Amino acid sequence: MSAAREPAPRYFNSPRRILFILGVAVFFLHYAVMRVLQQFSFGGSAAALIDSVVLVLVLMPAFYWFMFRPLLHHIEESRKTNVDLRESITRSEKIVATAFDAIIVIDERGIILDFNPAAERMFGVAAREIVGQTVNRLMPEPIRSAHDGYIATYLDRGTPRIVGKGREVEGLRSNGETFPMELAVTEMRLHGRRAFVGTIRDITRRKRDEAALRRANEELERKVMERTAELAKANGELQVIATTDALTHIVNRRQFDVELQKELERVRRYRSPFALILFDVDHFKAVNDRYGHLTGDMVLSDLAQLVAKEIRANDVFSRWGGEEFVLLVYGTDADGAQQIAEKLRILVGAHAFPHEQPVTCSFGVTGYAEGDDSVTIMQRVDKALYQAKEKGRNRIERAWEKRHE
Ligand code: GH3
Ligand code: MG
Ligand code: MG
Repeated sequence: MSAAREPAPRYFNSPRRILFILGVAVFFLHYAVMRVLQQFSFGGSAAALIDSVVLVLVLMPAFYWFMFRPLLHHIEESRKTNVDLRESITRSEKIVATAFDAIIVIDERGIILDFNPAAERMFGVAAREIVGQTVNRLMPEPIRSAHDGYIATYLDRGTPRIVGKGREVEGLRSNGETFPMELAVTEMRLHGRRAFVGTIRDITRRKRDEAALRRANEELERKVMERTAELAKANGELQVIATTDALTHIVNRRQFDVELQKELERVRRYRSPFALILFDVDHFKAVNDRYGHLTGDMVLSDLAQLVAKEIRANDVFSRWGGEEFVLLVYGTDADGAQQIAEKLRILVGAHAFPHEQPVTCSFGVTGYAEGDDSVTIMQRVDKALYQAKEKGRNRIERAWEKRHE
């Protein structure tokens, strides 16, 4: 908007004031001139002539200077102000007419005073139809019913709901469709009364884009979660494959090494005992030879399941290789392990195997000795098993653990 043209304050700017002062000046000037002329003994028409000449000579410039000049100035200023005002109005009208945003002016009763072309397009109603009607027509329920109350509260107490803030609300088009809009309201004075100017932006598209983006994000998140779950499952499956023996489904040798290593570290810290039982099927080659390799496999699998069911969940039962198995028993010394081995020996001996022949195993037992590592303890239990074989099979031999220096 243009800067307001403010005329400098002048004392002689009102024609009435100027006339009054001039009147007083003429009177005194005339009086003074006549007195002077009397002094110099002028009389009659000569005095009147001189008086008139003096009055004209003094009054003409004064009349011009104090009356005409300010008046001309005043008229010029008013003309310029008028031009400015007209330009400013034209400019504002053009801005309002070409604005992309809807601009609606209402009075303090909510009656629409102005409705720009963007508002016509947005709400689907012509300005000439809606100007003079209540603005509630452009709002869906429940705002429609509440709106008069909002204005009253604001006028009463000055608590604004939207004025000066701007917010997202629902609008209502003439075809009954509602749409999200962003509304900013400012207050102004119009013909001495309060009025409100609302600037409205249709944010349907923005909302739609936001919703689409949100949906895409959710979908992406869902996919990532799905994929993560799949990977976790695959990981779990790989873990099982990597640590399990394919034939017997018990822990494989590699995993047993890991568990033994862990136990060796644990025992150094907590000093709770553990023991190993290594056992081997007696004359297994004969089973293969007589019944075939597949039956041999079935016997090994059967044997592994039989023993797995018997031991505690915490103990580590593993296929050490071929027809040889190893059992790590926690919290038990060699004596306890020997009893477990005995139980297993009897269990296996009494079990009905797929080839309907008795199966026996030979057992080596040893307990953890201070200073043991995985090699020393395995060598010792292997030696015990060897002795059990030597001494006739289907028996248990114990390797006496001694302190390592
Ligand atoms: P012992 O241990 O009593 O001295 O006699 P053995 O006949 O069991 O001993 P040996 O070490 O000579 O033979 C072991 C046999 O176990 C040889 C091998 O064919 C068989 N064997 C090893 N792994 C498997 C397997 O996975 N499946 C089958 N069917 N047989 C296996
Ligand atoms: Mg054997
Ligand atoms: Mg063997």
